[in-house]
Amino acid sequence: MSEAILVLNAGSSSLKFAVYGGASGALVPVLRGKVAGIGTAAVFSARDGVGAAVPEADLLQIAPEIGHDALIPLLLAWIAGNGVRITSAGHRVVHGGRAHAGPAKVSADLLEELEALVPLAPLHQPHNLDAIRSVAAFAPELPQVACFDTSFHRTQDRLAQLFALPREMSEAGILRYGFHGLSYDYIAGRLPEALGARAEGRVIVAHLGNGASMCAMRGRQSVATSMGFTALDGLMMGQRCGALDPGVVLYLMQQKGMSAEAVGHVLYEKSGLAGVSGMTNDMTVLQASDSAEAREAIALFCYRAAGELAQLVAAIDGLDAIVFTAGIGENSAEVRAMICDRLGWLGVTLDMQANAANATRISAAGSAVAVLVIPTDEEAVIAAATHRLGTDLG
Ligand code: AMP
Repeated sequence: MSEAILVLNAGSSSLKFAVYGGASGALVPVLRGKVAGIGTAAVFSARDGVGAAVPEADLLQIAPEIGHDALIPLLLAWIAGNGVRITSAGHRVVHGGRAHAGPAKVSADLLEELEALVPLAPLHQPHNLDAIRSVAAFAPELPQVACFDTSFHRTQDRLAQLFALPREMSEAGILRYGFHGLSYDYIAGRLPEALGARAEGRVIVAHLGNGASMCAMRGRQSVATSMGFTALDGLMMGQRCGALDPGVVLYLMQQKGMSAEAVGHVLYEKSGLAGVSGMTNDMTVLQASDSAEAREAIALFCYRAAGELAQLVAAIDGLDAIVFTAGIGENSAEVRAMICDRLGWLGVTLDMQANAANATRISAAGSAVAVLVIPTDEEAVIAAATHRLGTDLG
């Protein structure tokens, strides 16, 4: 039986997993998969180490209405049935608060500390912590590691983390924490091979997926980011509104009589690409549509992204490179072109052929700013951190 690290990314209705083996010293994925539709119509899919789909007959058989608690023991047993012995588990945990500038080994004290952060990330943190508890209930001796989406941003100066709110509120923890840190950590690790010495310069990474944010880096460390206290701030996203005049929230509650819960539902679930298009949060569907609303949603997404990027340039005193990543950033030549089209004044020029081909370097030869496409891999960051914090791989 080979030994491996399990990586879990638990969301409200999905559980993504990856299994990393290390027979040759370097960590490599041997299995990756996902259960989508948890709680309603769960569907399991998995791929092996070379990316081939695991045949239907060999997949984990689960009831469509299975919940998270029942799923994790089944998944662990299924992995063992595939000849893999899990020696430790690493988890994506959205919020690590102010204290955690890196991953942390799970203990009862840590869980209590992370539980206290649930109000700061109510949509994600409870599921992340439940997954840790489910694994612990099934395998109490298994070492577990929490890897935080906020950690990467703890290098930021105080000014980048402050809201212009009364001091006592900032002191009570109402700060700009930033998210998508595991993705930024991965990209920061790829920069030297992609950019050479320029990797240490002024780089803005645009993580454009269903959730979207940007991070301005210097010396491959976070200097500023577009997401703030919650994962609602900054860019327009799939279903989230991004930065919004807080007066709109007051208006909806005070003048329109909406409850906090109803406003939250609009801002987190009904806005962004889905809200503006009135159709869907799926960029591929919007791109294939010629409706005026779909075109407007894409145009607003790009307008807002270019504006946010320009604002971040001021935090790092200029710009050497832009990196596009995540579902939209990695795959949508149209979105990249529409964003970069607004950034010509910064010295950004695309090579349209390279852009259409999703090449690694998509800037034109004479472009003052290098523009890259680098696929992100948050699971690899979690696997490496879990390995570092004390796993022996056989
Ligand atoms: P993520 O959250 O990183 O999985 O990204 C999801 C988003 O990426 C969705 O809006 C998808 O529609 C979008 N996406 C995935 N593939 C493509 C593609 N080929 N072209 C445009 N958008 C894509």
